[in-house]
Amino acid sequence: MDGNGKQEKKIKVKTLMKVYHFFWKYRRIDSIIAPFYYILENFSPTVSTLILAGFYQEVYWVLREEMGSYSRLITYGVAFIVYLIVKQFVQLIASISTNVGIFEKTLYILKENISQKASELPLITYENAEIMNKKEKAEECVQNDRIPSIFMLSVVLTTSVLGTGALIITLGSYHGVLAVIAIVSVAQFYAATYFQEKKKYQISQELTKEKRQRDYLWSLFTDEKSIKEMRIMGFADYLADQWKKSRDRINQKFWKEELFAHRNMMYCEFIRIIGYILGITFSFLLLLAGRIEAGVFGAVLTAFVNVQVVIKNHITSIGCIPVFLEYAKDYFDFIELPGEQGGSVKVGEKIQKISLKKVFFRYPNAEDFTLKNIDLEIQVGETIAVVGENGSGKTTLTKVLLGVYAATEGNVAINDIPINSIDTKDLYKKIAYLSQDYMIYKMSLKENIVLADMPENAVEDIKRIVSKIGLDDIAASCGDISQVYFGKEFGGIELSGGQAQRLAIARAIYKAGNLVILDEPTSAIDPIQEAEILSQIMNMVKGKTAIIISHRMSVCTKVDRIIVMKEGAISEAGTHEELIYKNGEYMRLFKAQSCWYES
Ligand code: ADP
Repeated sequence: MDGNGKQEKKIKVKTLMKVYHFFWKYRRIDSIIAPFYYILENFSPTVSTLILAGFYQEVYWVLREEMGSYSRLITYGVAFIVYLIVKQFVQLIASISTNVGIFEKTLYILKENISQKASELPLITYENAEIMNKKEKAEECVQNDRIPSIFMLSVVLTTSVLGTGALIITLGSYHGVLAVIAIVSVAQFYAATYFQEKKKYQISQELTKEKRQRDYLWSLFTDEKSIKEMRIMGFADYLADQWKKSRDRINQKFWKEELFAHRNMMYCEFIRIIGYILGITFSFLLLLAGRIEAGVFGAVLTAFVNVQVVIKNHITSIGCIPVFLEYAKDYFDFIELPGEQGGSVKVGEKIQKISLKKVFFRYPNAEDFTLKNIDLEIQVGETIAVVGENGSGKTTLTKVLLGVYAATEGNVAINDIPINSIDTKDLYKKIAYLSQDYMIYKMSLKENIVLADMPENAVEDIKRIVSKIGLDDIAASCGDISQVYFGKEFGGIELSGGQAQRLAIARAIYKAGNLVILDEPTSAIDPIQEAEILSQIMNMVKGKTAIIISHRMSVCTKVDRIIVMKEGAISEAGTHEELIYKNGEYMRLFKAQSCWYES
């Protein structure tokens, strides 16, 4: 075996150990019941044979009135009945334990572990296609029951070694050649199953991205927003066609493989039948040569078929295990990804200062830096507008500043504590952040704003904010704010784009915290109301540190400082007057927007 082969084997053994460890950790009782049951099942034919043999012997003696005893006869009879009852009972427990404990509950645990890991991963990993592929592969392993299958197959195989050995010895006792023919004639099933499963695994790996695209296309047909848009814009047929093509391309690859696998299995069966014919011929020759009695000829053939069937089943299972272990490795690879390396230092009562020194940031797999050489210091109570053309790095800057994405180079600190040593859970409690991809939950108005158990005095606060942000008509029309629901599916209200954005602003404003970051908070609000909403926002964030990203230059006249971003760097910073005086990038942006209003 070459170095690679050895390494692969080592990895498989390690993965197998992880599978056992998983069951020991999460399903201890079931993982004891399963092998115990299969060991018992192996002895079951022997036990029943012994009891029945004793019973028949006793009957024979009783009938011949020799040394038979009725009490022994009854004992054997009762023993047999007890045996049957116990067998049924044990079978029932084993079946529940296997179906529910080993398969069903394990599925929940595996799924839970995946979602747990997904929630612990650093958020930047969601920008990394490689890690998303890993997640998908882990999900595939779980969906296809690979981990419980490995466990059960290995249990069945190891516990049946004795029984299988006994079968082979029995056949071999008639003639060694018979045992050899029976085993050799089914050995090809190993190769067939191994390569078939391996190929399926490879196809599924190759298609990970395409499957994701197919699922994405399908999701467009279940999402209300995209359904509306595709219907109105008339591209529903195009997208449906793309989805069908993608689905067919994927299915075709699997079907082709399936067909190939069936053909191979047919060849394997053919070889097995040839082996069977050889076995019969050989047994017949033994009979002719007087090596076996006519009476045992039938028994020899039965033993031959039994060995073929049992070995074939075992070999097919053994063929699956290495590939199933590759799936299991995908699962463990994902689960073992390092979670967020959050620090433990509490940031303090208030966020007093944010500082970025020589910060560079690059997205995973991107060639260029998205943020370049950022030097920025923000003091408590400052209001800051971040402006710049699309793609200049404004959103990325806020995410790096909050530690959502770790800087590739340079230092980010809050209250002079390096961001990577800060307890981010504690930090985020003090921050209100409105992203461009805000969510409106199909829940009540109250829940949409509080998103947690509501404090006693919350209703009045919510009403005040909701009214300032221009949603009071909705609240008023429905009376109790916990009775205002969103989402038609739940008999609720459908919000317009502008109303939805106001609701998201209200959520950010409501959240206690002295740092508010609003990313394009008024992009969906009509220009007539925009100025009013912006000034309401500015009023409501008074006393807090606020960072507002906006394409609307008018906000700049209301803040303490403006940061102008250009191609990932801060090109200018200062007050509105200073920057106008400077007549640089800010002036260019300002003029470009004001010309809309002049004409
Ligand atoms: P802005 O908020 O100024 O419009 P962004 O911060 O959203 O700009 O984006 C800055 C640059 O980073 C853009 O060129 C964008 O294409 C790129 N970018 C954003 N997200 C990713 C990502 N996940 N992977 C790679 N590049 C990204």
